[in-house]
Amino acid sequence: YYDMEEKIDYVFKVIVIGDSAVGKTQILSRFSKNEFCFDSKSTIGVEFQTRTVIINGKVIKAQIWDTAGQERAVTSAYYRGALGAMLVYDITKRQSFDHVAKWVEELRSHSDNTIVIMLVGNKGDLVDLRVVPTEDAIEFADEQGLFFYETSALTGENVETAFIKLFEEINRVVC
Ligand code: GDP
Repeated sequence: YYDMEEKIDYVFKVIVIGDSAVGKTQILSRFSKNEFCFDSKSTIGVEFQTRTVIINGKVIKAQIWDTAGQERAVTSAYYRGALGAMLVYDITKRQSFDHVAKWVEELRSHSDNTIVIMLVGNKGDLVDLRVVPTEDAIEFADEQGLFFYETSALTGENVETAFIKLFEEINRVVC
């Protein structure tokens, strides 16, 4: 046994963005604590969670920031130093997908141009309510050079996979 905290090679700041109610907080909670909370909503103001993972033999401390209900007031401090972003929409809310382009613009104007962006279509468990076809998201992601996964914070599907992929890409870019 050894304490990973003592052997951190890199700290990665990652931000979670996207429209309100798409599941950003739940995705983060799933990844950092393996929890889904049915009646969250919560804390006001920016917050972050951390989780330490091993990527390519390096101990990486991921510091993942959540807008915590302040989507309309995200400031440059939120973007500063971010190496990666999870850009989340809700597969059952067309509007949240239509806004993704605006979020990409916002991201690109506020952060380093090497930032790695993972587009995430969340609430994949709500199959009967889907209104955003997977192909539309794949097409957009290809055009914009984003990575893409569909997830469910509720079941946990692909949440870990999407984060790990993001960290691997950040690791390739910056390390
Ligand atoms: P945020 O405003 O983007 O942080 O969204 P929240 O994480 O607060 O989630 C908004 C609502 O969607 C809450 O009622 C969650 O319980 C629900 N939710 C979040 N993720 C999922 C999911 O993957 N599946 C389902 N069915 N509901 C989800």
